[in-house]
This record gives sequence, C-alpha cells and structure tokens, in this order.
Amino acid sequence: MRKNWLSTNVAVVGEFDVITRYFSSLGSGEFVDLSVGDDAAALTVPPNSELIVSTDSSVLDTHFTDDVFPEDVGYKAVASAVSDLAAMGAEPLGMTLALTMPSVDDLWLHGLSQGLARGCHEYRLPLVGGDTTRGPLSLTLTVMGFCPRGEKLLRSEARVGDKICVSGCLGDAAFGLSVMQGNYRGSEVDVDDQEYLVGRFTHPKARLDLGCRLRQHATSCIDLSDGLLQDAAHVANASGVRFSIHSAAIPLSTALVSAVGEALALEYALSGGEDYELLFTLPPDSDVPDEVSVIGAVETGEGVYCDVMSREQGYDHFH
Ligand code: ADP
Ligand code: MG
Repeated sequence: MRKNWLSTNVAVVGEFDVITRYFSSLGSGEFVDLSVGDDAAALTVPPNSELIVSTDSSVLDTHFTDDVFPEDVGYKAVASAVSDLAAMGAEPLGMTLALTMPSVDDLWLHGLSQGLARGCHEYRLPLVGGDTTRGPLSLTLTVMGFCPRGEKLLRSEARVGDKICVSGCLGDAAFGLSVMQGNYRGSEVDVDDQEYLVGRFTHPKARLDLGCRLRQHATSCIDLSDGLLQDAAHVANASGVRFSIHSAAIPLSTALVSAVGEALALEYALSGGEDYELLFTLPPDSDVPDEVSVIGAVETGEGVYCDVMSREQGYDHFH
C-alpha cells in the first residue's frame, strides 16, 4: 500500500504527510518571507544584489550507493550544492529540494531530513520548498544566494601574474572514497586517519565563509569537485591564461601522506574529486588568507602545467 503513496497525482494526502513530517520544519531564515506550504516560496533579495542560483542532483547508484546512511546523503547533497554558492562568493538565501523516491520509507526519510537539517543549519540555508514524487531515488537541490551587484566571483577573470591559491588540503576525499570501496582493507592505514579521510568524503565542508571573504579580492574562483587539474583547466580556459602549478606547494594532509606516501598522495590531490575546497586567484600583491596555500602562478598561454607531469600528460586530463 505504502508504495502508492507517492504516485504523482493520486494519494495526495500521503505526499503532504511526508512533506509535513520531514521537510516543513527547516524553512525559516533571515531572508524567507514565505516557506513550505504555499504554491511557491518568497525570499527577499537585499537591494543592489544579484540572485545567485545553482542546481545539483544526487542520483542513487550514480552519486551514492544504497548502503550510505540517509543522513550522509542529505548532508552531502547540501554541502556539495552550497559549494557552488561558495565559489561565486554568495551569501546564502535558501534552497528547494526535488525528491524522487520509489516508496515511503520512514526510517530513511527521517535520516535524510536529519542530514538536510544539519546542512541547513551549518550553512544558514533554509529549505523553503520543493517537490516530492515517485520514481527512482534521487535528490535535486536548488540553492540560492546573493552577491552585491558586480561582486560575484567568476571563472573568467584570472590575470597573468596572479597567485593561484587553494583552501585546505587536497586529495583526502578521493582517498576516503577508495577506503570506503574496500581498496585499503587490511592495510596499515591508522584507524583515526582512516576515519578522518573517509569523513572528508562523506562530510565535505563547503567554504561558504571563505568565498564571501574573497569578494573584492579574488580575480577568479571555482570549487574543486572534479579534481585540481580538471577544475584548474576550467578557470585557465575561461580566463584565456595558463595555470602553472608547483607540485611541492600543493597542500596534503599528514593523514593522507602517512596513509599512501607523498607521491600517491599528490596523485590523489591532482586528479581526485570531491574535495570541495576553493581554487582561486589573487593579484600578486594581495595578502593570502589563513588556511590557504599558494600553489602557483598565472602565466600567458593556455591550459594547466604542473611540474610532475609532461605537458602532454597534463593536457590529456583536460580534453
Ligand atoms: P504544488 O502541487 O502546488 O506544486 P506540492 O503539493 O508539490 O505543491 O507541495 C506543497 C508544498 O510543499 C509546496 O510549498 C512545496 O514547495 C513543498 N514541498 C514539496 N515537496 C517538498 C520537499 N521535498 N521539500 C521541501 N518542500 C517541499
Ligand atoms: Mg508538486
């Protein structure tokens, strides 16, 4: 019987039940005038600002497997969507959730809403609306933020001579995924380090506050979802410049280096995805914020160059 609660048009009571029980309590916030319950939500965008909008989907068996805790599915969906707002330098306004699921599983939904609640709270991003339908399991989050007009951070404004910077440490999340997939079973990796590294994959931290602080300072910015080399190439190409990266300056966590050694750690950092750190450029005379490393400089030319790989290898990653 439950299975039919979520048919798209019939059994509307079931759908409302799910919404009230799991999603309607996360919707209040500073900029929210009207939240879950009406035909649409209403938000106030502060004067002289631009609305910044981004959508991300998480699909079962593409982005997560059915053994992942629903709390983690919810939290990570929020963090990875918010990361795009961080990369634009946006302040958070609110988000909507399009949820498709094959049946109503109360335990799973309870977990999901806990994870969403954690994300909403941490990133000051109320859940102001959405849609709930029946079908293969997927979540699509649309996140909304704002920037003072003209101050949003773009991929296309890196200038020759700029410093190339990244926040945090790179490669941890990709290694964490590898651990979860059983690739390091029975290895010597320290248990606490393993927990930290897996946590970097399951609970990434979007750099929302750093993104906001970079407005009026950074010339370009992107969040690292597909790996340093690939994401650096997006910025280099959009800006019409070359990114020259010094491998020795790439920040690696001690946990990752002690787990796999420096050479492999560097490979994870260069090619592994889902770190959700920010990669950005600063004019040569700018101060560098805390917890940020300068990993190279913007030069004339195109693409990305890193000393550990031949030019040809480097370009293979991008085309
Ligand atoms: P409509 O039929 O007008 O599109 P719905 O019945 O789909 O409205 O939704 C009722 C209310 O519940 C709306 O305010 C909608 O934004 C909200 N809502 C529906 N699904 C979700 C969800 N998964 N998360 C948050 N809010 C939701
Ligand atoms: Mg609807």
